Amino acid sequence: MSYDSTNIFAKILRGEIPCGKVYEDQHALAFHDIAPAAPLHVLVIPKGAYSSFADFMARATPVEVHGFFAAVAKVAAQENGTADFRLISNNGEGAGQTVHHFHVHVLAGRPMGGLLGE
Ligand code: 5GP
Repeated sequence: MSYDSTNIFAKILRGEIPCGKVYEDQHALAFHDIAPAAPLHVLVIPKGAYSSFADFMARATPVEVHGFFAAVAKVAAQENGTADFRLISNNGEGAGQTVHHFHVHVLAGRPMGGLLGE
């Protein structure tokens, strides 16, 4: 899927709509999910225009990839200390992706159950 810059996370990156920011650096922005699925539910997004994980891995530079995933680790440590957490990235609508700017969900604070939370 090609990148559509009218998506809600692009608007958040441009400062057009507010978010509950928890972390930002040159590579990534992290903020609270508007509909949290766990006591801690933060979204981490790259600053670049990538529609999905696959698109990010296909087009981002190694510096961007490392910078982004380093930011995910920093967010998890900052928001959750050393406690257990889950990372999710839905890749494509069939996998449940609803916002087409690549993002990783960081979830923690309750038992996660099975792989799909059942
Ligand atoms: P996806 O379904 O694409 O994996 O995840 C998209 C996530 O974005 C959902 O968990 C949804 O609650 C969250 N979300 C959608 N719109 C907004 C918004 O305007 N602000 C914030 N903070 N989160 C949003």
